[in-house]
This record gives sequence, structure tokens and C-alpha cells, in this order.
Amino acid sequence: MIQLIQRAQAFRQRPAISTGEMEISYAQLLQRSERLARALLGGNPDLNEARIAFLVAPGIDYVTLQWGIWRAGGIAVPLCVKHPLPSLRHVIEDAGALFVVYGPEFEETLQPLFGLEDTVFVAVGDLEQGSGQSLPEVAPDRRAMILYTSGTTGKPKGVVTTHANIEASIRSLVDAWRWSEDDRILNILPLHHVHGIVNVLCCALWSGACCEFLPQFSPEAVFARFATGRINLFMAVPTIYYKLIAHYRELPADQQQRISRALRDFRLMVSGSAALPVSVLETWREISDHTLLERYGMTEMGMAISNPYSGERRPGYIGQPLRGVEVRLVDEDDAPVAEGQPGEIQVKGDNVFREYWNRPEATAAAFTPDGWFRTGDIAVWEDGAYRILGRNSVDIIKSGGYKISALEIEEVLRKHPAVRECAVVGLPDEEWGEVIGASLIVAGPEPDLQSLTEWLRERLPGYKLPRRYIFQDDLPRNVMGKVTKQELKQYFA
Ligand code: ATP
Ligand code: MG
Repeated sequence: MIQLIQRAQAFRQRPAISTGEMEISYAQLLQRSERLARALLGGNPDLNEARIAFLVAPGIDYVTLQWGIWRAGGIAVPLCVKHPLPSLRHVIEDAGALFVVYGPEFEETLQPLFGLEDTVFVAVGDLEQGSGQSLPEVAPDRRAMILYTSGTTGKPKGVVTTHANIEASIRSLVDAWRWSEDDRILNILPLHHVHGIVNVLCCALWSGACCEFLPQFSPEAVFARFATGRINLFMAVPTIYYKLIAHYRELPADQQQRISRALRDFRLMVSGSAALPVSVLETWREISDHTLLERYGMTEMGMAISNPYSGERRPGYIGQPLRGVEVRLVDEDDAPVAEGQPGEIQVKGDNVFREYWNRPEATAAAFTPDGWFRTGDIAVWEDGAYRILGRNSVDIIKSGGYKISALEIEEVLRKHPAVRECAVVGLPDEEWGEVIGASLIVAGPEPDLQSLTEWLRERLPGYKLPRRYIFQDDLPRNVMGKVTKQELKQYFA
């Protein structure tokens, strides 16, 4: 049986899922998901890895569906509640979904797809409740989930993980971050992505903890939940912390104090999915008294590298490999680099995914002949911790024979008093190969470029200076809050 679900039997009446208004126990979750599994089976003995897509708001139905699909032997394909119809259609068709189960509020959105051949659309409330039927035996190596990558660098790819892969991810995180049944986490993350699903939801349920959902993210709503004093864990992407900080600054002093007091009692606050600006880490520390724990991971492998729970969390670094995960840095020929040299992060472990759905060539290209997964991210090992230099495809700028990390330049730019946020890209150039372009979001009037350049000269060597600037109100981002740099490059044209 699936470990996650077997373990739940021991937690019985403990709260499993809360929406703030409604709470269900582990016993209730088991009961509901069993009924749902039977409804999906509809008399068949086993879903046999059929893909069941679902579009429901974060909450009790979501978890019931996830568990129901797994217990019926199917592959869960969670859809993104913020995606426009073409993206939803892409996932439904690409995964070859047998069912699309939806919450009532999404009926109108999905209506244009109801005619799709080979896919049955059904409202979650209309699933016929089967009874009496026994559930199939689900082995650990069965495919469990297809998650689509964030689409930061191209069209999202369907990442297939088995129950064993997910379990390996959960085990290393529960161990590293010391989850226990006394924990209560506020989950504000999208539930079509590994961060919200595995790091938050699955780790909580594995541990007998309670996962509390927020139907709609807003800084006000998050702070209101924090202020209840019941939450002790929080995980988010850097842009969320950025938004919380901006809102906090607008609040009157007494409210700020109340929030800060509640935050001090937290056990742990985590950031990941994109590089955490040092300025965000420092400001959050002033507000909460917590040093955010930054970790590094990917849809294809869950989490791989994390700062320590106890021990130094060095700003700008992602820490050390998690237990059970092997990590190495290599050059273009897959040969390990010397210490202190930048190289591609490659990973091995039970956490690493099975395949890209229906893309055997992409799967083959993602692994070295001896089975290391190529992340495409460049990092360096310095004084006992990894530091990310960025994605080889967009963050490593090749200019005049140098390889320059966009992330490093962004960190420097953010220190300039006028710069609130920024992103750096490489722009094609005949003479240099690429030149550095910087998009700036500024607080007041646009700074004079000559004095900005002089300011930068004191902090960066000449070859790392941006040659072109644009000023924007906002950076282009995907639903995970990640800057889409391919898109950003077009604004320089
Ligand atoms: P796509 O693969 O479709 O382009 P994506 O790579 O953004 O999208 P995800 O799997 O959500 O999809 O993101 C994984 C990537 O996020 C990593 O490869 C890495 O580039 C980045 N990332 C994750 N954590 C961190 C971190 N702590 N610091 C810097 N980058 C990070
Ligand atoms: Mg990726």
C-alpha cells in the first residue's frame, strides 16, 4: 500500500486538512478518499495508471482527489487554477486524461473542452459513490503523478514520478526539516507544482501534521492567519516574501508588532523555487527574527540541496545535499570540476523522476550515460555550501569569452538605493557574443545611467557591467512568480 496513506491510519482523529473554516481528520480523509477511489474505479478493479486530471481550489476536495486517484491506482495530474484555457487544454491533451474532475467554480472555464474525445469531464460533486469494492494493490514503482514544469524556459514538460520517488522526497525533507505531528503549516502555494504538493502538503500528511489552506492568496489573509498563533511553519517563493514585506511596511505599528510577535514563535520558514535575494532574507529577518531557510529543487527531482535546520544558513547559498541525494558539479563533458569552479549540478537518488511524459528523447537527453540527472543549473561549491549561479540557458551570460552569472549582477544592482527589483539577461551581440542587459524597477525617478554605471564600477569588474538598461513597472513572471527571461529579452528589442 502507498506509505503516505498507510501511515495516516495511525493519526486517526488528528486534524489533517483545514480551510480555516472547516477541518477534517485523518480518519475522515481516509474515508472520503476511499469513497472517491471507488467512484473513479466505477466497478473496474484498477485504474492502471490512467491519468486523472483535476481542477479544484486548494482545500479538502483537492486532497481527497489526490488520495482517491492514488488509491484507485491512477496517475494524478493536478491542473493550475490560474492557467488560461489553452494551457489547461495542453496539459489535458498531453497527459491523455481519462477524466477531468473539476470544482463547480471551474465549470464555465472548462466548458469549451467538454467535447474533447477520450476525456470525460465530471464535477467533483457528481462522482457516483461506489460501494463495497476493494481497492487495488499499488506498488511503490507505480507512476503516481505528472507535474508540468513551470515553463520558465520553454513549453512545460510533463514530469512523471512514481510513489517511490515522491516517498524518497518526503522522507529526506521530513528528516531534514524535523516535521512532527505537532506542526501546522499554512499552504499558500499553487497545487500543481512540487513545492506546494510535496514539500508542504505531502510532508505534513506524512508526519500527522495539519495542512491549512488559504483559498486565495493575499498578504492581508496570510497575516490574519499568522496572527491566530496556530501556524508554526511556512514555505513560499521569494516573490511571496517580497509581497508580504511590502504589505507589512504599510501597516500601522501596533499591527506590525502583532504579526512580528506571532512570527517569532514559528518553528521554520522556507524559501525556494527561485533565487532568494539577500535583501529579502535580511528584511524578513528584521520582521520575523527568522533566517529564511533557502533550498534548491526542481519538478524533476523534488528537493536536492538545502540549508541546514540547525547550523549556519548562509545568505546567497543553498546549502548541502539532502540525505539520500547525491550531487556533483561537472563541466561540459560531464567531468567533475575542481573545487571552487562553476559546474552543472547533476543529481542521483530515489527522488529523481522516472521520465518526461511521452518524450523519450527529452528523457534520454536529461540523463548522462551513467544515470546522473542533468539539471541545467550552474553552481559553485564554496566553503562547504553550494551557491547557484543560475540556469545555463538564460542566467549564464557568455560575453567576450567570459561566463557571467546574471544572479550575481542582480544581487549587486539590488543594493543600489533606487533599485527595488531587477533582472539581468544576455542580449545577442555581434562583437561580444552577448552583452548584459538589465531591467530595473525603481522606487522614484529613473536614476541617471552614468552615475549608476559609476556606482556599479566600484562593485563589479568592467566585463560584468550592463550595457543596456530598460525600466519597467513589473518584471514578466509565470504563475510560480519566476521571471520569464526569454520574454524579458524581447523588451530590449
Ligand atoms: P521549465 O523547466 O519549464 O523551464 P522551471 O525550471 O522553472 O520551468 P521548476 O521545476 O518549477 O520549473 O523549477 C526548477 C528550477 O528552479 C531549477 O532548475 C532552478 O533553476 C530554479 N530554482 C529552484 N530553487 C532555486 C533556488 N533556491 N535558487 C535558484 N534557483 C532555484
Ligand atoms: Mg526546468
